[in-house]
Amino acid sequence: MIKTLKGDDFMNNRLYMVIPCYNEEPVLPETSKRLKEKFVSLLERGLIAPDSRICFVNDGSSDRTWEIIESLHKEDPVFSGVNLSRNRGHQNALLAGMMTVMDNADMIISMDADLQDDINAIDEMIEKYLAGCDIVYGVRSRRTTDTFFKRVTAESFYKLMDKMGAKTVFNHADYRLMSKRALQGLAGFGEVNLFLRGLVPMIGYKTDVVYYARGERFAGESKYPLSKMLQFAVEGVTSLSVKPIRYITALGFFVFMFSILILIYSFVRHYLGETIQGWTTLMVSIWAIGGLILLSLGVVGEYVGKIYLESKGRPRYIIEEFLDE
Ligand code: UDP
Ligand code: MG
Repeated sequence: MIKTLKGDDFMNNRLYMVIPCYNEEPVLPETSKRLKEKFVSLLERGLIAPDSRICFVNDGSSDRTWEIIESLHKEDPVFSGVNLSRNRGHQNALLAGMMTVMDNADMIISMDADLQDDINAIDEMIEKYLAGCDIVYGVRSRRTTDTFFKRVTAESFYKLMDKMGAKTVFNHADYRLMSKRALQGLAGFGEVNLFLRGLVPMIGYKTDVVYYARGERFAGESKYPLSKMLQFAVEGVTSLSVKPIRYITALGFFVFMFSILILIYSFVRHYLGETIQGWTTLMVSIWAIGGLILLSLGVVGEYVGKIYLESKGRPRYIIEEFLDE
């Protein structure tokens, strides 16, 4: 297949933007306006086909998000919408959107609804796609607008993930372009425990990155507080790697070795006749070992839980409605 930049050949550049929205009533009017402007300029430059779409995925919002999407679609067919049957979280909403529009699109770009991802990076992403890339990652060049706390927690998140064996693209969230065949590749990953940014690099093909400055959420509140971020990190690590279990095995080995030393030490003390009331040592060891055992059990349990959920093979999302024409 030959991809061209020529204006008259729109064969392979039908773009679908996929934007998960959870209670995004305050941001949708502005987001849709700016994206529409972007689309007009992309169209003028011949980068996208005229029947490209901006697809909002309503992730079971409790506010008027879906009504807004419906009216956008009614006014202008460039806006399409997917309505999920209930709230399933960002990752599932994103996957639902991508899988729903996959057959209609040549490429998709996934993005957050709050315009924190700079939409001016879209041009470069598409240029890279037209130059033959199947996956183009949006990577944050700086985090000056995030609070110090958010920056530190988010960056240590990536580092920790890497140490734990979950390979991801540093400072890349879910702002990326994927070609149709990359999406078809993704469709083959049937797991219920979704961590998209860890799965996408496993697809392969030619990839590239585009750098952009991440802005501030211009309205509404972050739906990713620290607790959710930690949960997401655990999800990411346990979905992608078995390293934590290996660490536990190593830990168990060292604790066991150490206990042999203690054993020898105790015998020596015993034969030297220095048996003292070792209450403190005893208490400390009981608590320390007990803690380690519980922690290790927890980690193992985390994996067992994953197996349990995967074995059920429940649907990852259910679509109530798809507005597109
Ligand atoms: N989101 C979603 N379902 C959820 C939570 C969030 O679809 O259960 C969407 C949200 O509407 C936004 C994106 O995921 O488009 C990222 O969320 P947010 O901006 O709150 O996260 P942050 O940028 O603070 O990490
Ligand atoms: Mg955000």
